[in-house]
Amino acid sequence: MSSSKSSNVIDGKAVAAAVIKECLTEVDALRRHNVVPGLAVVLVGEDPASKVYVGAKARTCLELGIYSRKIELPAETTQEELIGVVHDLNRDPAIHGILVQSPPPKHIDEEAVIRAIDPRKDVDGFHPENVAKLALEDPTGFVPCTPAGCLRLLKAAGISTTGADAVVIGRSMIVGKPMAFLLMAKGTDATVTIAHSRSTDLPGICRRADILIAAVGRPEMVKADWVKDGAVVIDVGINRVDDPSTKKGYRLVGDVAYDEVAPKCRAITPVPGGVGPMTIALLMKNTLQAARQQTRVV
Ligand code: NAD
Repeated sequence: MSSSKSSNVIDGKAVAAAVIKECLTEVDALRRHNVVPGLAVVLVGEDPASKVYVGAKARTCLELGIYSRKIELPAETTQEELIGVVHDLNRDPAIHGILVQSPPPKHIDEEAVIRAIDPRKDVDGFHPENVAKLALEDPTGFVPCTPAGCLRLLKAAGISTTGADAVVIGRSMIVGKPMAFLLMAKGTDATVTIAHSRSTDLPGICRRADILIAAVGRPEMVKADWVKDGAVVIDVGINRVDDPSTKKGYRLVGDVAYDEVAPKCRAITPVPGGVGPMTIALLMKNTLQAARQQTRVV
């Protein structure tokens, strides 16, 4: 990926490192009041990608001095048992943030599990109370980590969003919808279009975008002729594609055909090394927000 070294690349690792540095200061402030922030991550089953994400979250907690509790449950755990674990964590004063790693096994209703999490500890920001707070622009709510990370990347790259035409591809509750709310919020002030699998003329919609956010899960779907010259492109997609030339037999690509799109862009995020590192950094931020709100010491 030779073009990844050019000056229009937004370096997600560097911006994430800056967020982690802010978190260190926030952890210190809490610790001075004898508060050790705590995050519980619940993993049900053996999904290999989920194990990687959970491991990375625990390592970042350790690096920051955040207490982390990893709860690994067998794939056959029932929904009632899982909700029982969540209720125990809701009551545990050492735990300020709870997340249940997605996706759970098919027999579990993820929505019901999310609703069981105390909204004050819902650091993923998926509970209906936090979804409503995002829509209401209430800063006491938790904003989902990936879209919050995308917005932070735009700010770090000095991109002005006011009055910009922003197009978000994807309408999931995890990325697309909260991304749209953040972009249209007061202070960010973009004009937002959400496109999805039933949109007609997706290339035409994308070509209008000053800021294009792709959160689809389709490898290299966004082509060069979908992108306006000088647009800013944020690629949320993480897709494995077969590549026998690599040790693992696959490589990761985004939803954007990077090599052909990057030369047209004012700024673009690579995959990997773009949005991915931001998601964990913002999870740490949310955990510290939860610890502050629950203890009220700082
Ligand atoms: P999802 O499957 O829940 O949603 C995908 C969305 O894309 C849907 O709203 C659907 O309408 C839309 N879509 C599907 N096919 C389309 C098409 N042909 N044209 C237009 N729209 C189409 O996925 P998600 O959870 O929102 O994740 C999207 C991608 O982002 C995935 O690759 C996922 O791995 C990645 N992701 C990355 C991070 C990160 O930290 N970087 C975090 C979350 C998700």
